[in-house]
Amino acid sequence: MTKVPAYAAASATSPLGPHTVERREPGPHDVHIDILYCGICHSDIHQVRDEWGGSMFPMVPGHEIVGRVKAVGAHVKKFKVGDMAGVGCMVDSCRECDPCSHDLEQFCQKGAAFTYNGTEMDRKTPTYGGYSTQVVVDERFVLKVPEGLDPAGAAPLLCAGITTYSPLRQWNCKKGDKVGVVGLGGLGHMAVKLAASMGAEVTMLSTSKAKEADARKLGAHAFALTSDESTFEKLAGRFDLIINTISAPHDYNKYLGMLRPMGAMVVVGAPPAPTPVHAMSLIFGNKRLAGSLIGGIAETQEMLDYCGKHDIVSEVEVIPAAKINEAYERMLKGDVRYRFVIDCASLKGA
Ligand code: NAP
Ligand code: ZN
Ligand code: ZN
Repeated sequence: MTKVPAYAAASATSPLGPHTVERREPGPHDVHIDILYCGICHSDIHQVRDEWGGSMFPMVPGHEIVGRVKAVGAHVKKFKVGDMAGVGCMVDSCRECDPCSHDLEQFCQKGAAFTYNGTEMDRKTPTYGGYSTQVVVDERFVLKVPEGLDPAGAAPLLCAGITTYSPLRQWNCKKGDKVGVVGLGGLGHMAVKLAASMGAEVTMLSTSKAKEADARKLGAHAFALTSDESTFEKLAGRFDLIINTISAPHDYNKYLGMLRPMGAMVVVGAPPAPTPVHAMSLIFGNKRLAGSLIGGIAETQEMLDYCGKHDIVSEVEVIPAAKINEAYERMLKGDVRYRFVIDCASLKGA
């Protein structure tokens, strides 16, 4: 075991602060990674504050991890020392159930081992995430990060990137499609970049007028303010696909009204409380309301390779660990442009 510095929350009501976690000695199939950067996902806030229920403490959040390989086990084939590697939301799964054998490890029937706020597959050893300086993960769950990408900008691809890439692929986003992206935060800005790169005509649907110029720079062709009720009338029946990233409860019905017949809204934002959906919002127009959870390991690698080829990274504000609590407060106010990323070197000696 190696003791490594980390940042943790002791309870759902305490701020995060310096902490120490133990990482296992790398086994024959393990990759030992020196973490360079870890993104801050809104899911970190939901879980640290136990908004979804069942949170385990102390909690070291962080599932947007990029680093350099420090050591590899004897049987590791995909990685060598010095490679740029990534770890996303999962560190293991049963590897043999139906979803696992169809590259959908996130839906492992035994329950995937999530990167933090969970356990390894022994169901005993707690997992601790990327707000830390090192991590040890089986090579099957470690991703190759294209060397051409800036490592801080690449970190958010491991969650925000795959979470938006996967539904765009599932719904066959293509040139000329009219795609609405709801909420311009970490996920939203990746959705805009990725959908635009696939040739879609992207409209940013945001509550923040001040983000309009940025939305256009990110690739949006149009911007509409959702705090203005007339937006929902003006854009009624417009979109083939809406990617909804809002982190707080809101009225899905209003957004469904902006879909054309047969159009789909994919919910990726995970508000802690349910909201009612009227049957009529779906029936009139044969509309589809769907969800999507991250992506499997193979699709995550496909997304990273795609981002390497198209030179796509996240827009980041790099912060030292000491600013994590402040970053959470800013995210809750929608004041994020567009992903906070922790410089994990700042944890050394924290
Ligand atoms: P984020 O960076 O905080 O962005 C969320 C954005 O939603 C905000 O910037 C804001 O955009 C908008 N928003 C927030 N509160 C709102 C409200 N009350 N009404 C309308 N719009 C509001 O969060 P994120 O990291 O992108 O994560 C977004 C959500 O996705 C979270 O719930 C997270 O847990 C979830 N998530 C899901 C998956 C998955 O696999 N499905 C993966 C990762 C994250 P504007 O200022 O533009 O309005
Ligand atoms: Zn996430
Ligand atoms: Zn499985």
